[in-house]
Amino acid sequence: MTTFANLIAGEWTMGTRSVPNVNPSDTTDIIGEAAQATAEEMNQAIEAAAKAQVGWAQTTPQQRFDILDAIGTEILARKEELGDLLSREEGKILPEGIGEVGRAGQIFKFFAGEALRISGERVESIRPGIEIDMRREPLGVVGLITPWNFPIAIPAWKIAPALCYGNAVVLKAAEAVPACAWVLADIIHRAGLPAGVFNLVNGRGSEIGPVMIDHPKIAGVSFTGSVQTGRSVAQACAKNLKKVQLEMGGKNPAVVLDDADLDAAVGACVNSAFFSSGQRCTASSRMIVTEGIYDDFVAAMTKTVAALKVGDARDGATQIGPVIDARQLEKDLEYVEIAKAEGAKLVCGGEKLDGPGHYMSPALFIDTANDMRINQEEVFGPVATIIKAKDYDDALRIANETDFGLSAGICTTSLKYASHFKAHAKAGMVMVNLPTAGVDYHVPFGGTKGSSYGSREQGRYAAEFYSVMKTSYTQP
Ligand code: NAD
Repeated sequence: MTTFANLIAGEWTMGTRSVPNVNPSDTTDIIGEAAQATAEEMNQAIEAAAKAQVGWAQTTPQQRFDILDAIGTEILARKEELGDLLSREEGKILPEGIGEVGRAGQIFKFFAGEALRISGERVESIRPGIEIDMRREPLGVVGLITPWNFPIAIPAWKIAPALCYGNAVVLKAAEAVPACAWVLADIIHRAGLPAGVFNLVNGRGSEIGPVMIDHPKIAGVSFTGSVQTGRSVAQACAKNLKKVQLEMGGKNPAVVLDDADLDAAVGACVNSAFFSSGQRCTASSRMIVTEGIYDDFVAAMTKTVAALKVGDARDGATQIGPVIDARQLEKDLEYVEIAKAEGAKLVCGGEKLDGPGHYMSPALFIDTANDMRINQEEVFGPVATIIKAKDYDDALRIANETDFGLSAGICTTSLKYASHFKAHAKAGMVMVNLPTAGVDYHVPFGGTKGSSYGSREQGRYAAEFYSVMKTSYTQP
C-alpha cells in the first residue's frame, strides 16, 4: 500500500493516524493511506520552518533559481505520470490533469526567473546628504492552505513565490488530495532545499488549520477554498495581526450577445460551465443571453450538454469525470432540486448516474431569474443556468448582480460591447470570446467582492504578499 506521509523538518512521518485515499471515479480503488497530522506535528513543522527560514533568506538568487528550476524541470518531465495520478485522485479528465501538472512546472520555472529579478530602489532624500534605499525582504514563515480542485497547480502557485522571495513554507493541502501533495513535496524535497524550508502537514482542516494560523511564528497565511472557511481564516489572522490572502468562490457570468458567433459561444460556455465537472472557481455557472439569440443558444447548448460523455476520468472517451466525493454529489443534486422548486426549467441532466464513482449528468436550467438561489449561491458542480436578458445593458447589470467577482466572460463580435464589458464587469478577470476559466500562469489571478481578499496571486504581483518592503536611510 502506498503511503502519503507528512514532511516535517526534512523527515517523512506517518504520525499516529492515517485515512484511506479513494479514487472518485471508482470508490473500490484505494490509492493509498494518507497521514493525518496532530496539532503537535503542526507545531513541530512551524518551529522547523522558523529555524530554516533564517538561512534560506540568506541564499543567493542563483541558489534559489537552481532549486526552483530543478523542481519545474522534474514536474514537466513527469507530467504524464503525475497527470494520471491527479486524474485518479481528483477526477478531472486526463488531458486536464496533464495540463494542470504542466502549468505547475511552468510556475516553478517562472518563479525561478523571478528570483533573479528581485530588485529594490534608491531614491533621493528630501534632506541633504542622506541616502534612501528600499528593498524587498521575506515575510518569514508562511502557512499555505489549499483546496482539492487544483491539487498540484494551486500549491505550486503559492509554494513557488513563497520560496522565491526567501520564505519558509508549511503547506496544509486539502484532505481529498494527499497523493498530489505528497508527490509535489517529494520533488521539492529532493531538489536540494535545506531541511525545514518546505514542510507538508496534512490532516483535517478544522483541527490543524487553526493551530497553524494561531501559531506566533506564522507570519502570513495564503488560503484558497470556500468563502465560509476563508472568512474564519481571515478572522483568525486579523485577531493575530497576520498578513492574509484569500482566494474563494465564484458565481461567474458568461454573457452571450445577439451578435456572437453561436458555435463559438456554445463551445466557450460548455467548457466554462462543465469542464472539470464544473469544479473550478472560474467556472461560469450563469449564462446570460440576449433575446435575439436566446432560442438558438438554448437549443444548441442543450444538444451539446446532453451529448457529453460522463465517466471514469482516465477513460479516453470521457468528457466529464466524477465529482470529488459523495458529499459534493449530494450537494449538487440538492441544488438541482432547489432550482426546480424555484421554478427553473431543467432541460437536461441533473441525475445521479450508476457507476462505481460519484457521477451525475451535467444539469442545464433555462428560464431562470438572477435572484434565484441557483443563480446566487456557488454550487461547485456540473450545474449551470441560462438567464434571458433584454439587451447588453440588461446583461451587464445581471452579470454584476452577485456577491462574487472572480471571472466574467462575454461572447460578442462587437468591439464596442467587448471594450465596455472589460471596463465595467465587476470581476478580477474578464474574458472576451473565451471560457471564463483557463488562465495564464505569468499574470495576476484574483477577484473582487466576495471572491478574493488581499493582494493578487501569480505573476510578479505575487511579490506583494510574499515579501515586505524595508526602507533604509543612511547618512554616509
Ligand atoms: P474548503 O474551504 O472546504 O477547504 C479549503 C482548505 O481549507 C482545505 O485544505 C481544508 O482542509 C482547509 N480548512 C478547512 N477548515 C479550516 C479551518 N477552520 N481553518 C483552516 N483551514 C481549514 O474548500 P474546498 O472544498 O477544498 O475547495 C472548494 C472551494 O475552493 C470552492 O468554493 C472554490 O470556489 C474555491 N476555490 C477558489 C479558487 C480561487 O482561486 N478563487 C481556486 C480553487 C478553488
